[in-house]
Amino acid sequence: MKKGSKHSNESRAKMRENHYDVSGINNPNYGKRCSEETKRKISKANRNPSLEIRNKISQHHANVWGINNPRWRGGITPLYKLIRNRKEYFKWRNDVSKLNPNRCKHCSREDLSLEIDHIIPLCYFITKNNIKTIKMALNCPELWEISNGQVLCRGCHALKTQKDIQKYNKVTR
Ligand SMILES: [Zn+2]
Repeated sequence: MKKGSKHSNESRAKMRENHYDVSGINNPNYGKRCSEETKRKISKANRNPSLEIRNKISQHHANVWGINNPRWRGGITPLYKLIRNRKEYFKWRNDVSKLNPNRCKHCSREDLSLEIDHIIPLCYFITKNNIKTIKMALNCPELWEISNGQVLCRGCHALKTQKDIQKYNKVTR
């Protein structure tokens, strides 16, 4: 078929006929597992951005970090963001959820979407220890204390955040 030319209505009808539903059980891949090799390839592709992309990202970060960032608000907000994007933060959340029952600590519900909360908010430690950089944050054990984490449902978490704002003058985003 010539590039750029369109299928006639007749051939389109034929294609429709021949392409039966391939979703779910009709899919030739239904129930099949990826080989270990394929799995490895997929996870590698998802895990490691190419060097080119990594360079782009770090260049971007170098330019928009901290005071150069148009959203700079005196320090704590970008620091929050940096902390939330760290693998150490994901690990902290993961460790907290592993060590706690899978239900809201306040209302005990299990059927709501659950979130991990800092019992004493991060900004308290950041201010107390005069933390200015992500390096200082990573070196401050109080920020990463597993026992300072609890599981809350979204509603209780929102209420808790309101209390933190009053109690600790908490900064949000
Ligand atoms: Zn709750």
